[in-house]
Amino acid sequence: MANKLMVEAIRTGTVIDHIPSGQGIKILKQLHLIEGKQKITVGFNLPSKNLGLKDLIKVENRLFSEPEAYQLALFASSATINVIENYKVIDKFKMVIPNAIEGIFACPNSNCISLTEPVKSYFSVKQTNSAVFLKCKYCERSFNKEIVAGV
Ligand SMILES: [Zn+2]
Repeated sequence: MANKLMVEAIRTGTVIDHIPSGQGIKILKQLHLIEGKQKITVGFNLPSKNLGLKDLIKVENRLFSEPEAYQLALFASSATINVIENYKVIDKFKMVIPNAIEGIFACPNSNCISLTEPVKSYFSVKQTNSAVFLKCKYCERSFNKEIVAGV
């Protein structure tokens, strides 16, 4: 309960909680949240039972699109998303790294056929202990998630 009081409640919007400490700033940049007009409240290095320290982001009047949810999953797979309406959590879900990502990121390989042919990009997602790789279906090259997401 103490944690909840540290950050002002929002009427409508999205709260991204349980972001691994240090990833919050990346998510703000990657989702271009600061460039928008929404009111954003962030908490960095907040105490967390499970993570030790966590980051938290509250965005007013904003729900996340599917591509944004995927980007969140790639960079903060432990995060939970709380959808708030009238100060109440009406939906809550945990981020899950998808097995495949279709039609969201362009292939970083400039010779890849997916860039010139009318096809949707398609990456299968492979996880190792320390990293997440995305493998393009068309050129069969694997890329670090940061390269594919352009961060
Ligand atoms: Zn490719």
